[in-house]
Amino acid sequence: MAMGKHIVKCCICHRIRTDRGWEPEHSRDAFSRDEISYSHGYCPTCYEEALMQIKARVAQTALRTAS
Ligand SMILES: [Zn+2]
Repeated sequence: MAMGKHIVKCCICHRIRTDRGWEPEHSRDAFSRDEISYSHGYCPTCYEEALMQIKARVAQTALRTAS
């Protein structure tokens, strides 16, 4: 049974993960649309950024509770 393509799409910059790396969404034209199932996630760049934001928020909260 064919499951079709399952691709990961970054929920921030909307790039998709391909065999060649993270590419703009329009490169999905290489695939037949019907066979695609999307999974939303983070590309490495946006993951780093999200992590930084979380860390900054945690640091702020820690400062606030400390004072
Ligand atoms: Zn991204």
